Amino acid sequence: MGTETSSAGRLLVISAHAGDFVWRAAGAIALAAERGDPAKVVCLSFGERGESARAWREGRTLKEIKGIRRAEAEAAAAELGAEIDFLDAGDYPLQETPELVDRLVRVYREFTPAVVLTHTLTDPYNGDHPAAARMALQARVLAQAIGYDAPGEPLGAPPVFFFEPHQPEQCDFKPDVLLDITPVFERKRKAMECLPAQQHMWDYYTDLAKRRGVQLKRNAGPNLGLAHDTLAEAYVRVYPQTTAVLA
Ligand SMILES: [Zn+2]
Repeated sequence: MGTETSSAGRLLVISAHAGDFVWRAAGAIALAAERGDPAKVVCLSFGERGESARAWREGRTLKEIKGIRRAEAEAAAAELGAEIDFLDAGDYPLQETPELVDRLVRVYREFTPAVVLTHTLTDPYNGDHPAAARMALQARVLAQAIGYDAPGEPLGAPPVFFFEPHQPEQCDFKPDVLLDITPVFERKRKAMECLPAQQHMWDYYTDLAKRRGVQLKRNAGPNLGLAHDTLAEAYVRVYPQTTAVLA
């Protein structure tokens, strides 16, 4: 596992807020689930303070907002075929703590992912996203250490991919992986529609999938018979691909 870009396996998605995994990685999650590979989403927070503006304007309490966001994210994860956990660590700001990193180490050791998806390390619009990415990377390294005190076997070296941020240019996001999500796009759309408070995002991420799909076709070669309406998600691979064959 983990030696080819096409390798499949258990998929772990570490999401700062309850909606992030839907916009940015729902296609990858649905593809894993359709292959029969377990997919798990860990939401570090509900996005209750920073990404729930409508609920605040409606006068909801913090507790109510957390409940709303939890229910939406659970519905989206169910649509995609993933399990989902919430660590309720708070947002705006999401605080990096040794305790939270330790909880992630235990997730890695228990779930033993073959592939990990998370945020970019740069996001000048949202400090919670890089904080989640830093903790995801640190926990992965700690989970690999045989001497780290957590249940389970030391983790291997699952490749990590950054999913696409909302303002890619400002986040130094230059895709080097384009994932064909055409067969599961309807599931991604339905998962997005589980988040009614962010309805403006539905068409934005549908349009983005079309543009990334055009780029995928160009890079795949013009004569490979890909669907005219190929849809894609973009990723950045963090660690080098290891392979015995350049392809
Ligand atoms: Zn977010």
